[in-house]
Amino acid sequence: MSDFAGRIVVVNSQAEKLFGYAREELVGQSVESLMPARFRTNHPGFRHGYAAQPHSRPMAAGSELFGLRKDGTEFPVEISLSPVENSVLRARLRGADPQGATLVLSAIRDVTAARAAEKALRASEARFRSILESAPDAMVIADDQGRIVLANAETERLFGYLRDELIGRHVELLVPGRFRDMHPRHRREYTAKPRTRSMGEGRELRGLRKDGGEFPVEIMLSPLVSAEGTLITAAVRDITERKKAEEQLLRTVNELKRSNSELQQFAYVASHDLQEPLRMVASYTQLLAQRYKGRLDSDADEFIAYAVDGSNRMHGLIEDLLSYSRAGTDGRALCEISSEDVLAEALANLKGRMDESDAVVTHDALPVLTTDARQLAQVFQNLIGNAIKYRGGEAPRVHVSAARNGSGAWTFSVADNGLGIDPLYFERIFVLFQRLHRREEFAGTGIGLAICKKVLEQLGGRIWVESEPGSGSTFYFTLPDGDEKP
Ligand code: ADP
Repeated sequence: MSDFAGRIVVVNSQAEKLFGYAREELVGQSVESLMPARFRTNHPGFRHGYAAQPHSRPMAAGSELFGLRKDGTEFPVEISLSPVENSVLRARLRGADPQGATLVLSAIRDVTAARAAEKALRASEARFRSILESAPDAMVIADDQGRIVLANAETERLFGYLRDELIGRHVELLVPGRFRDMHPRHRREYTAKPRTRSMGEGRELRGLRKDGGEFPVEIMLSPLVSAEGTLITAAVRDITERKKAEEQLLRTVNELKRSNSELQQFAYVASHDLQEPLRMVASYTQLLAQRYKGRLDSDADEFIAYAVDGSNRMHGLIEDLLSYSRAGTDGRALCEISSEDVLAEALANLKGRMDESDAVVTHDALPVLTTDARQLAQVFQNLIGNAIKYRGGEAPRVHVSAARNGSGAWTFSVADNGLGIDPLYFERIFVLFQRLHRREEFAGTGIGLAICKKVLEQLGGRIWVESEPGSGSTFYFTLPDGDEKP
């Protein structure tokens, strides 16, 4: 408590503690000694102003005030002033100085902690805003009444409003008219049970721009607990591009499915229907050969022989085409099988050819896996059959092994000591009817590897070769175990 001359009259123990002075040191001092030097010059003026109109009010409301401790350190303070009539003093002064009888009570509060908390709050708010600003989604924050309290730059860009046009408006402003009526109900339901989740599971959500345009959106909702109660944050993402890409992909997939099944149908029908007239050509050329051999001239015999040969070959090709178009999963479920058993079955089918060429086929332990046994047998049979057919000078040695690869599928290998293949043809040999040898050298139509490729790809695997001419070839193929596509 001080008088209007600014001298301290009374202090409490809290004032001693706050400023670090003993009571005796304070009483009689000017109040200016308790404030930093920079405030001292103007203070007597304020004091006189207060003396002219003494009433209870905060001191210098709105500006930052500081106290000065005895040790010279400063601290932020809030001060409220109130005039106190002092009858004792008045009696003592005996009316000599009427104003002197009024004292000023300054209630001084150290607001260091409160200021620090405010500052921290401001800093975290600034951080929050900057995160919000840099978010790739339009972030719209609304109160429990659905009124927008905050929106970021992306919201302005996406919806075409300036922030000022959004703040205070209902979020329904951003929802197309036909969804607007039901939105407040959804909003209330969400506010009653707020949790982080995407909005409108399964429903197509759309945003409405200021210009009336609509666009597909995806919205994540999450509650945001704040001093003003629970706010709702909506992260809105424009998915126009993704939708377009998805639709395009779906169209392409359907188109592919259609053309694929059409092609399959075509190959099957063509080869099937070609057989009938071919059978006629074959049987009549054979009849010609039987009946007229030696009865026409020697040229005629030769021509007839060519015709018979050609029709036989064509018959072979058509058979191949049919088996190629039939090859692949015909919708049968995959089973758990031992690939070692499957290999044994394939080898049984190759027994004649193996004996003929003194071929030896060895193998490592082979896995049990879930796949199509019949097709795996066909792959083994084609690959080992080729290894025997395209042998070099020595008796064929073939080794089969398998290992788990990085993606959880199995990689099988079939290695031979045969002729080998020029890297130039590593791709071509898997194409239908593509061969590296003439018929006269090695029988065949170039369908075996094409079938392997087709069935393996249908099972979710792939096939490739590594080889060097003269040093044998190793064919590799992968098979996923069951439905896990690699
Ligand atoms: P085909 O054996 O009827 O010609 P394939 O599709 O099985 O048909 O093989 C295509 C071509 O790949 C063969 O003509 C052959 O030149 C080559 N080839 C396949 N397997 C081997 C192998 N193990 N060693 C060398 N060449 C091979």
